[in-house]
Amino acid sequence: METATPMLRQYLDIKKLYPGTILFFRLGDFYEMFNEDAIVGSRELEITLTARQKDGPNPVPMCGVPHHAAASYIARLVKKGYRVAICEQTETPTKGVKLVKREVVRVITPGTAIDPQLVESKDSVYLAAICGSGDTFGVAFLETSSGHFSATEISGKNSWQKICEEVDAFAPRELLYPESMENAIRQTFAADTGSNLFDQKPVSTTLTLTSRPNDDFDAKQSEIRLTRQMEVAHLSGFGFDGHGDAVQAAGACLKYAQDTQRATAGHISEIKYFETADCMVLDAVTLRNLEIFESRGEKSKNTLFGLLDETVTGMGSRLLRQWTSRPSLKRAEIQTRLAAVTELSDTILREKLRFLLKQVSDLERLIGRLNLGTATPRDIVALGRSLGQAPQVNQVLADAQSLLIQVLSENIFELPEIRDLIERSIVDEPPVNTADGGVIRDGYNAELDDLRSVSTSAKQIIARFEDDERTRTGISNLKIRFNNVFGYYIEVSKGNIARVPDDYERRQTLANAERYTTPQLKEWEQKVLGADERIGQLEAELFQQIRDTVCGETRKLQSTARALATLDSLCSLSETAAKRNFVCPVLHDGDEIEVVNGRHPVVEASIGASFIPNDIRLNNSTDRLLVITGANMGGKSTFLRQVAIIQILAQMGSFVPATSARLPIVDRVWTRVGASDDLASGRSTFMVEMTETAAILHNATPRSLVLLDEIGRGTSTFDGLSIAWAVAEHLHNSTEHSAKTMFATHYHEMTELAETLPGAKNYQITATEKDGDVVFLHKLQPGKASKSYGIAVAKLAGLPMNVIERAKSVLEKLEQYELAVFADERKTGLAKAAGRRLASQFSLFAVTNETAIDELRNVDVGSLSAEESKVLLERIKDKIV
Ligand code: ATP
Repeated sequence: METATPMLRQYLDIKKLYPGTILFFRLGDFYEMFNEDAIVGSRELEITLTARQKDGPNPVPMCGVPHHAAASYIARLVKKGYRVAICEQTETPTKGVKLVKREVVRVITPGTAIDPQLVESKDSVYLAAICGSGDTFGVAFLETSSGHFSATEISGKNSWQKICEEVDAFAPRELLYPESMENAIRQTFAADTGSNLFDQKPVSTTLTLTSRPNDDFDAKQSEIRLTRQMEVAHLSGFGFDGHGDAVQAAGACLKYAQDTQRATAGHISEIKYFETADCMVLDAVTLRNLEIFESRGEKSKNTLFGLLDETVTGMGSRLLRQWTSRPSLKRAEIQTRLAAVTELSDTILREKLRFLLKQVSDLERLIGRLNLGTATPRDIVALGRSLGQAPQVNQVLADAQSLLIQVLSENIFELPEIRDLIERSIVDEPPVNTADGGVIRDGYNAELDDLRSVSTSAKQIIARFEDDERTRTGISNLKIRFNNVFGYYIEVSKGNIARVPDDYERRQTLANAERYTTPQLKEWEQKVLGADERIGQLEAELFQQIRDTVCGETRKLQSTARALATLDSLCSLSETAAKRNFVCPVLHDGDEIEVVNGRHPVVEASIGASFIPNDIRLNNSTDRLLVITGANMGGKSTFLRQVAIIQILAQMGSFVPATSARLPIVDRVWTRVGASDDLASGRSTFMVEMTETAAILHNATPRSLVLLDEIGRGTSTFDGLSIAWAVAEHLHNSTEHSAKTMFATHYHEMTELAETLPGAKNYQITATEKDGDVVFLHKLQPGKASKSYGIAVAKLAGLPMNVIERAKSVLEKLEQYELAVFADERKTGLAKAAGRRLASQFSLFAVTNETAIDELRNVDVGSLSAEESKVLLERIKDKIV
């Protein structure tokens, strides 16, 4: 520090104020990074690492990016989970001043990003804050770009787990927490994210963890901050009474957003307290298993959301995504949406609306940028044009019958004075930056018009001056030119210098020419430059005024944006329903799920008309546990998923793929489908499977829908079967956790459950065999499948013929011995069998060989002839595997 130059000292002082960020330090035309930031920055951005004071005793690592290209470098760092502080020169360098003032003007972080380069139009970017202690926790979610702000609080049993599920459901990019919660947060979230930004390891984060001082979560300060922001006397109106932890989390969120943006963020004008009981939680496992947003790691390809999303605006798409990830548990809310979707099935009405909505820009984010001071003239023009659609939308909605559409129409404000102001004041195609000039329309401001005409006529006079001077001097190639350093000047080539008149004053000598000025030229130059400078200032002032006037209508603009986004989402649901032949489900207060000809919409979309529909019948009494068997590839998983998807679609307010559907409101869909390793957190396939199953057994309720697809497969057959058996029994018998359950399995023994449990039913997905090959019928029927056709499917998959033949012979042997042993033991009770046989972890092959050994044991060797010994040996050899 002592040896540091004044500039480096300034750097270090500023850096101290922004721990946990990479500091972009403006030096002339570059942003420079130093020390550790330079090491991380050069590695992540793949730029050259150099050093300042290279040859001194303490070289300082350094790297830099040109300021005009900085946005893309910043975006790359933030996408990787880093926080970047932008430090600008806040005074213009003047002669004699060695060190200009510098200040951090913004901190860009993953959770508060607003730049179009960082926020995809269809993705919400949430910042979350969590706090609490004991068994009460609060969490808040803020989308800085649009101002959406909500919070909740959870108390009692499993409150930590439930609050973490909320965090998962919102999938924020950044999570704030008080430093006192460091351990709990790291234990829960760090394993998922690997996000410690400054440990010099490459990070691939989806969630940046940001510790904040405990004071940022202070109860009193949070309340003051929120009431001031929302311009209310207290927070009761938002439903926060008695929810102190939610207030604290929200307060910390708001503070961080304001601190990083360095703006008051007037568009964050409302906060919603939501009850977790209002929505169905779709946890990460379920989202993944049902391929709602991602299919095998790929975004939007062949996913439910990819199929549903027919929206025409970014904000509509984000809202639809929210509805999909948080289906409602409130029947009234669902019915109102369904009624609106029904009304919009009128193709003419829907097409008119979609046509108008297509011309609406991302109003929510435009309003955000306007309030955060980053809106460009183009943003304001886009806002004006979008508002221009409002009167026509309202006209189209004038005769709407459904309550929701009527309410939406009431919330669309036409704001003619704002539209008029924008149209009158800003040119049709303005530049991106106000500084480039030409933003304000002629005729809007008299002073600006005058200045412009002064500037233009002075420029014309200067242009004429060139002709006049050529005539006067006889120098035909004399030119009048302009540059930023010398202003206007007369340029004469070396060969013509002799003809230069006496009143020319020399300004500069070049290799081939001399540059001059004259008192007359100087006079006109001053007029042009004076006018141009003032034009720049005035345009900036006028633009600021226009921006402020538009900002003054933030609430009405937000209401309009929200209503248009909702209309877009509803139209999208209707469009999908029409395109894909969905029907309106009937929701009821009972417990039965009754679907006629249900389909899996995503599988159907990829295979078309050959999809075989199936009926679904589940309830809490006679059809509580469905055990589904059938051939590999028969369609068990597809069937299970389609039941869940139909239920989710209905509860988000969508029509469903079926010919009719009567559905209850389900509090949660639980899934345990297929086997997946979670290598990142060091858990094995089987451990993952059991952890997920445990969560289901502890939390499912009689109002839940549980899908279990082949649980118990990750261990030895008997361990697996025993677990599957016990899990199914538990879900059937428990009073607290007896959910409607569908259990797909290849353990054919499980079908015996239906014979003893009153609520269990067997179903099979049919398949037949033709010429040794399996033919899938994909039809669900009562009863149990006789076999799995595993080897037939393996043949289809192209396993070598000798392997297939060998598998067949092994199977024969196993069926002979093994299953007989199991059936025998079941007669004497599974528990006893488990004690005797399973404890030794024997394998199927061990059992088979054991029978051969038994035979050997019983042989009286002395009584065997040579020929008999040979026959015996051959028989034993045949038996062993
Ligand atoms: P496994 O036991 O091997 O896991 P599975 O019984 O769960 O198989 P799925 O994965 O559900 O079988 O389905 C396999 C394929 O069969 C699907 O990819 C799909 O192409 C087709 N399929 C499934 N259900 C149907 C249906 N109802 N109509 C037509 N094709 C279907």
